Amino acid sequence: MELETLCLHAGYTPKNGEPRVVPICQSTTFTYSSTKEVAQLFDLESAGYFYSRIGNPTVDAVEQKIAALEGGVGAMCTSSGQAASLISILTLAKAGDHVLSTSSIYGGTFNLFAVTLKRFGIEVTFVDQKASDAEIKAQIRENTKAVFGETIANPSMDVLDIERIANIAHESGLPLIVDNTFATPVLCRPFEFGADIVVHSTTKYLDGHALQIGGVIVDSGKFDWANNPRFTEFTEPDESYHGLVYTKAFGKAAYIVKARVQLMRDLGCCQGPQGAFYINLGLETLALRMPRYCENAMQVARFLASQDKVSEVRYPGLEGSPNFALAQKYLKNGASGVISFEVKGGREAGAKFIDSLKLTSLQVHVADIRTCVLHPASSTHRQLTDEQLVECGITPGLIRLSVGLENVSDIIADLQTALNAL
Ligand SMILES: *Cc1c(COP(=O)(O)O)cnc(C)c1O
Repeated sequence: MELETLCLHAGYTPKNGEPRVVPICQSTTFTYSSTKEVAQLFDLESAGYFYSRIGNPTVDAVEQKIAALEGGVGAMCTSSGQAASLISILTLAKAGDHVLSTSSIYGGTFNLFAVTLKRFGIEVTFVDQKASDAEIKAQIRENTKAVFGETIANPSMDVLDIERIANIAHESGLPLIVDNTFATPVLCRPFEFGADIVVHSTTKYLDGHALQIGGVIVDSGKFDWANNPRFTEFTEPDESYHGLVYTKAFGKAAYIVKARVQLMRDLGCCQGPQGAFYINLGLETLALRMPRYCENAMQVARFLASQDKVSEVRYPGLEGSPNFALAQKYLKNGASGVISFEVKGGREAGAKFIDSLKLTSLQVHVADIRTCVLHPASSTHRQLTDEQLVECGITPGLIRLSVGLENVSDIIADLQTALNAL
C-alpha cells in the first residue's frame, strides 16, 4: 500500500462488528484465567498484553502504523521524543561505551548526549556531518556502539547524507540511528538509504496538531546483531529473562523487542492510550499535510530570501542552499515546513521581529498545524554555550519559523508587517 493508504489503514483492521476507529483501551492491565498464561507472558514465551507500560492495544496500533510508514519490522512508542532518543541509545550502549553523533542535532538531544548520558557513563562525541569520511571514521572507537544524526537538523536545517554516514557506520559494524522528526516518512524513509534505527518526536508532524507529547523508535530489522562482537548483549543470555537470547528468540526484531522488554520495562517512559489515539488522528492526515507544509514553506522561504532586511535564509529546498543537492536526493517530495533565517541587526532585531508578528505565534514548538516561531538562542538552545551553539549551527539572531497550513498569502503578509517594523 502507498503512504496515503497506510496513514489511514495500517495498524488496525477491525473485524466484524468492531469499532471502525481505533478504540482507546484506557486500561492499565489485562486479565487472564490462569497463572500459567501470565507466567508465559512474563517469560516472553507467548505474546499478549498484560500491563500497559509494556504494551497496550491502542498504542500498539500506532506503533504498527508508524512501522509500516517507515518500512520497519517494529516500533515502540515512548512518552516523548527525548525518551525515544534515550532508549534508542540505551538499548545498545552501557557505562563505558561510546556513541558518535553529528553535531547538528536538536538542542534537547545535544544536552541528553553531552550531559546526561555522560553521567550514565556513556561518552558521546560530536562530529561535523560535512567532515570527510576519513575524519568521521577517525572518531569511531573500539567501544563505539552507534552513530546518530538527524535527517533534517533542528534548527540548522542541515540535511544528513544518510547513505554516506550509514556506509561509514556499517564499515565499522555499527548501526546508524536517524532522528527523522522533521522529514517524516512522507518526505524521507531513512531505511531506504541504509539507516538501521529511526526515532521521532511524534510531538511534531506525526501528531501535527500540538496535542500530545510523544516519541517512537522504529527498527528496520536489517542490522545483523548476531555476528558482531560489539553487541554481545543481543547474543548472550539476559539474566532478567531466565537466559533469553534476543537474536535467537526474536530474529530481525531483536533490537525493538530488547528496547521494550528491557528498557521500557525498567525505565517506564511509555505512551498512554489516550495520547496514542491523538497521535493516530494526526497520522491519518500526515500524507495530506506534509506536501502543503512544504509548498507553503517553499513560498515563504523565497519571500524571505527576497527581503533586504533578511541576511540569511536556511531552507534546504532553496536553490542557493548549501543543502540543496542533498535535499534533491533525500527530500524529493519537499523539504519540510521549517525555515531558519536571520534578520539583520542580530539578537535585538530578531526579538523585535518576533514581537511584531500577529498571526504567527511565539511558541516552544515546531511542526504545528499553525504557523509558529521561536528564537532558539533564548529558548530551546539557551543551555548551550556560544561555542556549542555554533557547533549546532545556530547564531544568536537565528529565527526558527515553522510554516503552518494557513493560506500562504496570510503567512507572508504577517511576516511582511513584522519586517516593516524593523
Ligand atoms: C522536539 C524534538 C525532539 C524531542 O522531542 P520531545 O517530544 O519534545 O521530547 C527530538 N528531536 C527533534 C528533531 C525534535 O524536533
